[in-house]
Amino acid sequence: MEEKSLLALVEKLNQEHSLRREEWEDLIRYRTPEVSERVFSRARRWARCYYGNKIYVRGLIEISSFCRNNCLYCGIRRGNPNAQRYRLTKEQIWDCAQRGYELGFRTFVLQGGEDPGFSDEQVAQTVAGLRARYPDCAITLSLGERKKEVYALWYEAGANRYLLRHETADPRHYARLHPPELDPVYRQNCLWNLKEIGYQVGTGFMVGSPYQTPENLAEDFLFIEKLQPHMVGIGPFVPHHDTPFAHKPAGTAELTVFLLALLRLQQPNVLLPATTALGTIDPKGREKGVLAGANVIMPNLSPMDVRKKYMLYDNKISTGDESAQNLANLKQRMADIGYEIVVDRGDWIGPQGLASTGRARI
Ligand code: SF4
Repeated sequence: MEEKSLLALVEKLNQEHSLRREEWEDLIRYRTPEVSERVFSRARRWARCYYGNKIYVRGLIEISSFCRNNCLYCGIRRGNPNAQRYRLTKEQIWDCAQRGYELGFRTFVLQGGEDPGFSDEQVAQTVAGLRARYPDCAITLSLGERKKEVYALWYEAGANRYLLRHETADPRHYARLHPPELDPVYRQNCLWNLKEIGYQVGTGFMVGSPYQTPENLAEDFLFIEKLQPHMVGIGPFVPHHDTPFAHKPAGTAELTVFLLALLRLQQPNVLLPATTALGTIDPKGREKGVLAGANVIMPNLSPMDVRKKYMLYDNKISTGDESAQNLANLKQRMADIGYEIVVDRGDWIGPQGLASTGRARI
């Protein structure tokens, strides 16, 4: 396909924020360095338009490495006998949040496997405790698939946001990444339920997961257009040595940042993290993500002694600049590329936000 036609598709996406299925496929399949550069520059303009040069940080607390599920790509799947298991108490979680608050974090993300040992009521109590201590903070949960009434219970307890990647919108691809008992339709319904309850909702997918095709990715973009999430988290697939996908090749930073930028053009006001997985496969992954339109970073606030146990994939970074304790370094790295880390809840800005900020449309 000619580069000229691809560049025309980029301009169409930039203006209409939507493409047809085969247009997504073409853009992804035939991308060239010049097309990527055009996508990046348009994506940066949209991110600046809504969020200026601000980068939001979220303090990530990994609350449990137990999981009842057996996703084929995941290092803490229940079928991995070598995974190191831990579960934080609610007091430990509150302590993490306190350290984060002192460091300037105003959003806490509680993430974990689907751990039957952490009851719905215990999660609600943990959230309620955080809400009482930090009324000015956003509380995000990322605890997998639950019944609608459980999501509602946690929302009532004070949670504001929920992250649940749909993983892949193509059911046949989903079936190659997950055991048969996991149902992509149920998972997508969870996202609709979360929205209905009132959560700010994040979805997402892995880039370069085994068997993934441009057709699958086009399906992901179409699903995201339908869902209209507040946040989209994507990161490269990175294999874990104790899983059935141990020998599958990792996704690339190049495709990940290209897709990040396409997401920014599709959803100009979406919250878009430069993920840990991107920082794991490329030491400059965070910077590349931000320069492709990402505006969120989630440093690790978990207790030091458990960080190495939450090993979703090999070599996952959790110390150094990935650590919440090293925020100063991260600030410097962002300043070096012209961005500023801010102490802020970092809420999603609706389309009306442009009018209220007085920024011009581009
Ligand atoms: S990806 Fe999530 S649900 Fe699947 S095994 Fe890992 S922690 Fe559990």
